[in-house]
Amino acid sequence: MKIVLASDNGNKLREFRELLAGSGVEILSKTEAGCRLEVEETGDSFAENARQKAVAVMRAAAMPALADDSGLCVDALGGAPGVYSARYTGRHGDSDQDRYRLLLKNMEGKADRRARFVCALCCAFPDGTFLEAMGECPGRILEAPEGENGFGYDPIFLPDGCSESMGALSPEEKNAISHRGRALEAFRAEWERRYADQ
Ligand code: IMP
Repeated sequence: MKIVLASDNGNKLREFRELLAGSGVEILSKTEAGCRLEVEETGDSFAENARQKAVAVMRAAAMPALADDSGLCVDALGGAPGVYSARYTGRHGDSDQDRYRLLLKNMEGKADRRARFVCALCCAFPDGTFLEAMGECPGRILEAPEGENGFGYDPIFLPDGCSESMGALSPEEKNAISHRGRALEAFRAEWERRYADQ
């Protein structure tokens, strides 16, 4: 089955292709699906944003669309940056590095470093049905960035049970424990249940 990824984030596209390799699902980019739509994220939860993106792109591309809305929630910052993870500095065009530097600055002097990555997935189908799942990866915010892999806030996040930052893990190591990997695991189970029922 071909599914378009309702995202312009090349890192998410790469991770979904790695995660779904050999599954029979072929993930197309929006460009490959001929879809140029940009969807504004106006929801105040990851699940709501994922559903908005999936439905809009499914309609525009006239094929099943998978959306991922994800981000980092930091306890000492009241759950921020959360759904605003991609826009944390408030300036368009800023880099991942600008965003994690601001987060490290806002964490200066904070003893409670607990945080979690969250991923909401929604696949919208042209028959009007949905398949949804969530995944989380708990951990802590480091004092300084570490590692050259991954993207976004990976260099400043130490997943529970790991001795290296998310940004120092190999793609396989990250996918095995990440919020996206876990959400996809739950999504697959839901998918299998749905098709077993039919
Ligand atoms: P979205 O496109 O609104 O879902 O933006 C998600 C943002 O959350 C990304 O731009 C990253 O800043 C952050 N994020 C999501 N997933 C990851 C991840 O796996 N590693 C690091 N940062 C992530």
